[in-house]
Amino acid sequence: MKAYCVSVVVGYRESANVFLKELLRKKVVDALLAPAESETGKSVTWTLVTEPGEVDKLNVFAPIIPGYSGATLVSEITRETPLSKRVGVVLKPCEIKALIELVKFGQVNMDNLVLIGTDCYGTYHVLKYGEMVGEGKNPTEEMLRHYFSGVEDENFRVHCKLCDNPVHEAADITMGFIGNSEPEKLFLIPNTSKGQGILGELNFIEDNVQGREMKIKEIEKRRRGNREKFISSSEREIGDIKKLSGILENCINCHNCMEVCPICFCKECFFDSDRYSFVMERYMKWDADKGAYPLPTGKLQFHIGRMIHMATSCVGCGLCEQSCPMDVELSKILVPLAIEAQRVYSYKPGMKIDEKPPLMVIDESELEKFIEEG
Ligand code: SF4
Ligand code: SF4
Ligand code: SF4
Repeated sequence: MKAYCVSVVVGYRESANVFLKELLRKKVVDALLAPAESETGKSVTWTLVTEPGEVDKLNVFAPIIPGYSGATLVSEITRETPLSKRVGVVLKPCEIKALIELVKFGQVNMDNLVLIGTDCYGTYHVLKYGEMVGEGKNPTEEMLRHYFSGVEDENFRVHCKLCDNPVHEAADITMGFIGNSEPEKLFLIPNTSKGQGILGELNFIEDNVQGREMKIKEIEKRRRGNREKFISSSEREIGDIKKLSGILENCINCHNCMEVCPICFCKECFFDSDRYSFVMERYMKWDADKGAYPLPTGKLQFHIGRMIHMATSCVGCGLCEQSCPMDVELSKILVPLAIEAQRVYSYKPGMKIDEKPPLMVIDESELEKFIEEG
């Protein structure tokens, strides 16, 4: 595999910033949208950078997604009006997957975007990340230490330990470390003709990447194994409606999980309407035959509705679970459901821009089975 490399400085963050600075200096892009270190250093903040002198604030390999997916932000800034200036956006693989799903649903306009991906071995919950920094640890070094020793970090978020996309080749350029035998060498891999054109104009050393594909396959295989184990134990835990309600029992119906989900893009949501407002008469009518019913009823419907809406396009970023103030283990519900729905439709969301999501395709033959049965 042909790549370019940056190894002039110590550390992936610094190497990435050498490259990103060049993009601004040479006016390849007018701005960069990427995670920058927060004021306290205990988190990162999505930041739009236009001056090369500000690039050193960026920390694109920080193993954290700060609340919202970068895909959500790109949708916010491009959905109504295409960008008039060229913006380089730096995203992790699950954020690229979300971006691709949003393009399919008409929620992102890719004009003037340069997509820059990073390899990702796993991220920490935002609070864990802050805690690690508070204890004097460097989360990026911790993540890399686990990567180079070939083991999972038990502290990674659940979805990361199940993630089989440590890289995403839909980015114009990938900034990568996977497959690297020299810990400080950053690969710049062109995946598209746009990416090749950009890298061809910059003065980085051409290189051959060896061992990357093998390492990627190794991670994918391990993660699929983790996922199988996770799914079978989750299925035992959520086997019926009673158990499902048990997982959700501490849910306070705050809808954070919906707010942060990059795939949940409707501006007006049925579940935010007054359909489930506390009107006793409605509860009496709906559940008249039950004798006793927990209130408010909207909670379970909200989650079932979200599962139906999300299952085929869920990209497994885990931001729903990260955003939950009550530590509801949403992964136990959503991961088995999404994997099964995606298997049934032979659809892997966020991989190919020209592959339509099942929700957008009406295939009459799908109905035949039900017509026959009916
Ligand atoms: S889900 Fe995958 S790509 Fe996303 S942060 Fe976790 S490991 Fe990285
Ligand atoms: S449902 Fe959760 S894991 Fe799936 S895309 Fe939305 S936030 Fe990510
Ligand atoms: S974020 Fe947690 S508490 Fe809020 S609605 Fe979702 S599951 Fe319930």
